[in-house]
Amino acid sequence: VEVTGAPVINDVKDLKGAVLVFHDISDLKRVEEMRKDFVANVSHELKTPITSIRGFAETLLEDDMADEEIRKQFLNIILKESTRLQSLIHDLLELSKIEKEEMKLSLKLIEVDSWMQSSLTLIEQQAQKKSLLFTKEVERGITFYGDPDRLQQVILNLMYNAINYTGEGGRVILRVAETQSDVVIEVEDTGVGIPEDARSRIFERFYRVDRARSRNTGGTGLGLAIVKHIVEVHQGTIAVTSEVGKGSCFTVKLPKKL
Ligand code: ADP
Repeated sequence: VEVTGAPVINDVKDLKGAVLVFHDISDLKRVEEMRKDFVANVSHELKTPITSIRGFAETLLEDDMADEEIRKQFLNIILKESTRLQSLIHDLLELSKIEKEEMKLSLKLIEVDSWMQSSLTLIEQQAQKKSLLFTKEVERGITFYGDPDRLQQVILNLMYNAINYTGEGGRVILRVAETQSDVVIEVEDTGVGIPEDARSRIFERFYRVDRARSRNTGGTGLGLAIVKHIVEVHQGTIAVTSEVGKGSCFTVKLPKKL
């Protein structure tokens, strides 16, 4: 609480009392805390791969490394870490763009059948690499208003997660259906699942259930924050149900007319 005060004085300059104003600044404080946390998180996320790239590059330069295998191994780590940096910077820019341009969605009539096709090719390849069974149950002929590029990002991020957090031989399902007022997109997997106490937090920036696992699969910890933002700018909702060890299901509802 922030307090400001002023004395109350009458005509003959007698002090009669004082006025105190109490401002509840807990919201401001919270926003400020979140901003500080965010900067600290970004710095940490950037520092980790840079330290590793620098360390391996220095070792490669200093040591007279005859072993071709080890050289290759180090170069691969450098490549992997710089790719991570690139994704992280891409996601950060994406997030700040969405925040700044909230009002500037490029709304178009989206025809789901053809709109979906372009993103599915990419996903199908990824799923195949992990021998996952990928099925889609997309109702024919759905149309609605939205920003096609941003919403494609939503589907891609959810699908990439489903693929990343599901072990070889598992199953990923994409469903699209409609109600009178909404388009309902569901991404379901038979993967590791999300513990109950983490379910409300996974949409926060940089929150991860298992940091090491997310890193290993190239995750930035920003994917779901971006998804939630895009969905909310479209006045939609996102929810998740999950069982640890069995799988997860993300449901996005978007109003057909904005
Ligand atoms: P990341 O880049 O780490 O995947 P996200 O913001 O996309 O970041 O997701 C946040 C966290 O939520 C992940 O680190 C992971 O722990 C959890 N998560 C997201 N999707 C799934 C899923 N389909 N199955 C299990 N866990 C998931």
